[in-house]
Amino acid sequence: MRPIVALGLFAAWGCSGPGQQPTAITHVSVIDVASGATRADYTVIVGGSRIAYAGPAANAQLPRGARVIDGRGKFLIPGLWDMHVHAFMYLFSDFAGPLMIANGVTGAREMGYYIDTTLRWKRDIARGSEIGPRLVAGVRVDGPIGRTKFVSHVWDVNDAVRAVDTLARAKSGSSRADFLSIDPMLGRAPYFALAKEAKKIGVPFAGKVPYAVSVAEASSAGQRSIEQEDDLMRACTRNDSVFRAHLSDTTKLRPGDDPLQLRGDVRAILESYDRARCSEVIETLARNHTWVTPTLIVYQPYARGFDSASTHPERSKYVPGIIQGGWLTKANPKLRDEPAVVQSSFSFARTGELARTGVKLLAGTDAPRAFIYPGFSVHDELELLVQAGLTPLEALRTATYNPAEYLGALDSLGTVTAGKLADLVLLDANPLLDIRNTTRIAAVIANGRVFDSAARARLLAHVETALKH
Ligand SMILES: [Zn+2]
Repeated sequence: MRPIVALGLFAAWGCSGPGQQPTAITHVSVIDVASGATRADYTVIVGGSRIAYAGPAANAQLPRGARVIDGRGKFLIPGLWDMHVHAFMYLFSDFAGPLMIANGVTGAREMGYYIDTTLRWKRDIARGSEIGPRLVAGVRVDGPIGRTKFVSHVWDVNDAVRAVDTLARAKSGSSRADFLSIDPMLGRAPYFALAKEAKKIGVPFAGKVPYAVSVAEASSAGQRSIEQEDDLMRACTRNDSVFRAHLSDTTKLRPGDDPLQLRGDVRAILESYDRARCSEVIETLARNHTWVTPTLIVYQPYARGFDSASTHPERSKYVPGIIQGGWLTKANPKLRDEPAVVQSSFSFARTGELARTGVKLLAGTDAPRAFIYPGFSVHDELELLVQAGLTPLEALRTATYNPAEYLGALDSLGTVTAGKLADLVLLDANPLLDIRNTTRIAAVIANGRVFDSAARARLLAHVETALKH
C-alpha cells in the first residue's frame, strides 16, 4: 500500500491546521473529567495547537475570522488515548493514524516492537506530515528466545543494564523512546537488574509482567503499568507460580513457535481462583501506585465464539489484509475452543475491584491484534469497562485524565482547560449518561486541527480506497 497521507495534504482533507484559522466551539457543555462536573454554556476557543479559552460563553471574545462551531446540545471531552497499541511499528501503518483520528483517538502509547519505525511515525505526526495521534513510544526489551528481528534481546543481567543505559543516553525529543516495554519472556535476574538500573537513572518501564516474575514482585520493583487481564487472572489463583513456571519453560518451544501461543489454560486458571490472594495482589498494586491497562476488548472474540458482534466484519475494510491474515490462524486454540470458560474468567477478572481498591486504570486495546481495530476499539473498551463495574465517568477518565496523569502530562493534556494542547472530541450526546455516546462524534480536534464529520468520513474513505489498491 502506498502512503496515503502525503506531505501538505491538509487542505485536501478540508481541515484547518495550527497557525491557521482559529476555531470557537460556542455554547457547548464541557465535561470536566477531573471533577465529573458538566460545565453548561461554555465556549472553547482553539488557536494554533492550544486551547486559548475555555470558560463561560458570556465572557468569551471570539477572535476575528474564527471558524464557529455551534456547540448547543453537544458535549466536549478531551481527546481519547489508546494506551496499548502495536499499530505504529510497520512501514505500512498509514491506516492506523487516520482511523484513530476519525474515532477521536488523539493519543496512543506504542508498546513496540520496531522502535525506529515508531519514532519515524511519531516525528511525522508531530510535524503534521502524517495524520495520527500523539505518540508515546516504547522500546521493546525482549526475552532471549524465539521471535526474531525484535530489538534489545536481553539474555542476562549485563544486557538488561545496557538496554536501560542505551535508552537513557539516546538523544532527547522525538528521536528517543519514551519508556522500556517489557516482554513476557524476559528472565528473572535480568528483569530485576533492569528495574534497579531504570530506577537509578529514572527511565520508566512498563508492559507485560515477565512469566518469571509475579505481578506483586513487578509492582514492588517499580513497573509503571501492567498490561492485560491474563497476568492478573493468573496472579489471582493459588497456582500462579505453577502456571508461570510452565509458561516460562522455553524447552517446550519448537522453532517457529510463538511463545504467546502457550499462554493461558483458562479452565485451570478459573478452577484455581483464590479470592483472598486476588485481593492481596490488588492491594499491592494500589499501594505501589502501579497502573493497570486491562485491555478487556482483547478477550471479547474468544468469549463470544468469534461472532460478528465481536469480530466486526463491517470494519475489516479499514485494516490491511497482511494484518488480518494472521488473525484467525494465530488465535490461541486453547482459548478459542472454550468461549464459556473465557467469559467466566473474564467476569471474575475483577477490573471493578481494581477500580474500587484505588488502582488506576488505563484504556488500551492492543490494536491491531485479532479483530481489534485502531480507533474503533477504544470505544468498545470503554463500554466493557463500564460493564466491569466502572461508572461512565471513571471509564472516560481511563482514556483522558488518567493517561495524562500516567504520562506526567497533566499540565498540557487530560482536561479541557485554557493553555493545554487542543486535543478534543465534540459529541452529539452526553457520555456520562451512556458511555456508548463517545461514538456519537460531531468533530475531532487533534493538535489544533479540526476534523468535522465530512473530514472524518474522508479519512475513513481514503483508508478504504487505499487498501483496495
Ligand atoms: Zn500488546
